[in-house]
Order: sequence, then C-alpha cells, then structure tokens
Amino acid sequence: MTDYAHDIVVVGSGPGGLKAAIQGAKAGKRVAVVERDRNPGGACVYRGTIPSKTLLEAAQTIIRLKHNAAVFDFNLREDLEVATLIQRLDKVTSSHNHSIRDQLNRNDIDLFHGRAKISGTNQVTVQHVDGGESILHAETIVLATGSRPRTPPDIPVDHENILDSDSLLSMLYLPRSLTVLGSGVIACEYASIFSLLGVKVYLIDRSERPLAFLDEEITDFFLQSFERYGGTLLGGESIQSVQWDGVSEVATTLASGKVIKTEKNLVALGRLANVESLQLDQVGVACGPRGHVLVNEDYQTSVPNIYAVGDLIGPPALASCSMEQGRRAICHALDMDPGHAFNLVPIGIYAVPEIASVGLSEQEAIQKYGKVCVGRARLDETARGLISGSEAGLLKLISDEHGKKILGVQIIGDNATDLIHVGEVALLNGNEVSFFQENILNFPTMSEAYRIAALQLLNQCHRVGALA
Ligand SMILES: Cc1cc2nc3c(=O)[nH]c(=O)nc-3n(C[C@H](O)[C@H](O)[C@H](O)COP(=O)(O)OP(=O)(O)OC[C@H]3O[C@@H](n4cnc5c(N)ncnc54)[C@H](O)[C@@H]3O)c2cc1C
Repeated sequence: MTDYAHDIVVVGSGPGGLKAAIQGAKAGKRVAVVERDRNPGGACVYRGTIPSKTLLEAAQTIIRLKHNAAVFDFNLREDLEVATLIQRLDKVTSSHNHSIRDQLNRNDIDLFHGRAKISGTNQVTVQHVDGGESILHAETIVLATGSRPRTPPDIPVDHENILDSDSLLSMLYLPRSLTVLGSGVIACEYASIFSLLGVKVYLIDRSERPLAFLDEEITDFFLQSFERYGGTLLGGESIQSVQWDGVSEVATTLASGKVIKTEKNLVALGRLANVESLQLDQVGVACGPRGHVLVNEDYQTSVPNIYAVGDLIGPPALASCSMEQGRRAICHALDMDPGHAFNLVPIGIYAVPEIASVGLSEQEAIQKYGKVCVGRARLDETARGLISGSEAGLLKLISDEHGKKILGVQIIGDNATDLIHVGEVALLNGNEVSFFQENILNFPTMSEAYRIAALQLLNQCHRVGALA
C-alpha cells in the first residue's frame, strides 16, 4: 500500500471530473484523478454522448447518400454491420483518449487506474486491478462517478438480445427489428436513428407520448417523422414481461395483451447514480431518495470538503452541465469567483430530426402568462434549407402577448442543437423579438429562421393589436 498527498482528488474522469481536475491544476494545485475504466473520458466518451452522436452522424450520411443515389449510383449493403456504421467511433474515441491524456499530462494531473472508495473525509482508497491499494490524501475531494443504465429486476438484460444503451453499441449486425422500452431522450434518440436506418422499431412506454417535457408541437413533429421512417409508437402501455425465445426473437408482452416480437430489445428506462462503490456512508455523505448525492448550490455534499458533480447528483444529467458543475465546484473549494451561476440550460436531443429547446415551451408559457405570441419558421423552406435539401423542420419563437419579451425557442430539424444557441444568447441578453427584425443575419443560413419567425410573430401581434 502506498500513500500519496494531493490538494485535490477527483473520482471519475468523465466531463464533470475532468473539468474539475483541470480547473484545480490551472489554479496551481496538485491534483489526482482516479478512474476505474482503462481509459479516461467517462460514459460520455465510451458509452454515451460521443458514440450515439457518431452513430447518428453515420446514419445521416447514409441517408444523404441515399437521397443522392440517382447521382452517385449508391446502394446500401444488405449485410450492413453496426460496426461498419460506427467505424469512425474507434477513431473518434481514441482521439478523445489521446486528447484527454494529453490534457492530464500538460496540467501535471496524476491519473490513478482503479476503483475508488472514500475511506475518510480527506482520504480516498484506490483498489488497483492487480489487487494493490493506494491511499490518496487531499484537502478537497470531488466525486464525479456518473451513472449507468437502470435495469428493472424483471427484465432479463443479457446484453446480446435484450440490451441496454451500453451494450447496444456492441451489436454486430443491424437487426431487422428492434423494440425500445422507454420514452426519454436516450430511447427516442436510438429509436429514431435505427428507424432511419430501415430497422422496424417499436417505441413502447407507459406514457402516452414520448419526450413529455417538450413543446407539444415539437413532439408531434418528431412522431410524424418517426412514423414516416416506419417507426411505431405504442404509448400508454405497461410491460408485463420481456423474454428471449432462445432462437431468434425477443417477445415483449404488454399488460394490454399485445405481444411485440422483434430481433432485439433495447431497455432505456432511465439511469442510476454510481454511488455504491464509493461507500459514502463511511463518512456521512447524504444521498436523496432516488440515490443521487445531495449537494448545495456550490456542489458541496453534506461533508463540506467533499463535492459532487455530474450525473451523480441527478438532473439535468448532461455532459454540458457536468463540465460546468466540475469547474464551479473547484472554484468554490479554492475560494475563486466562478462567475454568474447558470440558470438557463439548453436541451439538445440528437434524434432524427434533431431537437433543441431553451426557455419555455408554448404550453409552459401559456400556463405562466396566460396569453402569448408564437412565430414559426419552416427550416426546410429557408433558402439554406432548400439549397441543402433539408428534411422538414420547424423553429418556434415564443414571446409575451405584446410580441416583445422572448420566453422560449423550440426547434426541430437539421442543426437544431447548434441553432438553439442563437436563441439562448438572445434570452440571456434579454433581447426582444424585434432584435431579429432589426439586425442583419447572414444569408443564406439556417439562422435566418429566427428572422422569419420573428417577422411572423410581430406581424401577427400587430394585426391582433390593430383589430383589438
Ligand atoms: C446514450 C447517451 C447519450 C447521451 N447524449 C448526451 C448528449 O448528447 N449531450 C449531453 O450533454 N449529454 C449526453 N448524455 C449524458 C452524458 O453522457 C452524461 O451526462 C455525462 O457523461 C456525465 O458526466 P459525469 O462526469 O457525471 O460522469 P461519466 O461520464 O459517467 O463518468 C464517470 C466516470 O467515473 C468512473 N467511476 C465510477 N465509479 C468509480 C469509482 N468508484 N472509482 C473510479 N472511477 C469510477 C466511471 O468509470 C466513469 O469513467 C448521454 C448519455 C447517454 C447514456
């Protein structure tokens, strides 16, 4: 057993842990990161954000090629393997691995490979794969151990036929059919990607509609597209059993009596925080009823020098937020000014089509303010959309009833997850709808949709105002 002294020990090398470690090192502290996986980067790089986006990119490329089949004489191979689809994934993840290791080296951060547990308020014990142990001492500890897929006890996930979002990416062949259980972001992303690839997809959940937190018009748009690509939504259904027949099919039996048989089944029914291995009860770090570590607004746990960030502390459970939480936690620990706290989180859903949202949905705005104005622009009808042959898409600008204060932006369509940031900045700056009328945006661009939606909204408001 060897002892090491650091100022900061970070457990977990996903986006939350990594940004905490780098912030600490930039402030001149001696920092160690403990990671149980072979490579640093977390679920984000190897099982979550990066792989799913790489698969989406590959799927979209194939569709673009298919659209141009007449020009390029292109045909999709019959025996298409998932591995072929994500052939860039190895390259992408290995580039991430190199760049993360490079960042750790450049900042003199010590990387310990092993499973960490908290053995004292200032002490982390690392169990290495060879059975050895290291004891790391530090003034500040940051927990960033992330989350894993939740598997209900009555669903026999075998990672071959009945998969979760981690094992899905190890499928060798593109299945002919796939049942997706769940209606959250991960379920909808994978259901729509596989549907786009020609797989017969059934999306099953107990809620009537997927992505319940979204603007209803945007969800309708998503469902139309999903069904256009051959997907089927079975909403308002509860699952009775999921069984692999030992030969070729997984049968999903629903309480309504329906039985859906598909080649594979993906269980996407939420995620659980990785708390168990940390043995937090030893030092009295408190967890909430859903198993997340409880923190205050500075990311301090119930033990003040132990911080927690990322998926471990629960929603919004996004890589984007985890990074900023990691940075802010260290700023607090080192008594540095972290800047304004973020209170507006954009949502990006990398489904087909892409979805993004910031601020209020139309329904939320009506609930809060009574009357509202809404301007719409079809992304596929903008000059840029026509040039690039965009799939159908919609941008909604939601304002107060006077057509002034922007309350929210909702987008579905190509590049929605990038396009949303224009709306986010306008919301953060308190710009009025007229900002998009009075200022010049490049032409032709997808951003022009903001101007089109703003003009529509303003015309509508003035017309209503004039009539009133
Ligand atoms: C399919 C999928 C798609 C996603 N898409 C997006 C997206 O598009 N955009 C977005 O913002 N977010 C997305 N997310 C969410 C995002 O991946 C997570 O929010 C993010 O990875 C959380 O970062 P983290 O630092 O909290 O933990 P993680 O990235 O989960 O990293 C935690 C690390 O801690 C390590 N660890 C755990 N326990 C121990 C221990 N005891 N000792 C040592 N090491 C330990 C783990 O091995 C892991 O490497 C997606 C997630 C999934 C599953």
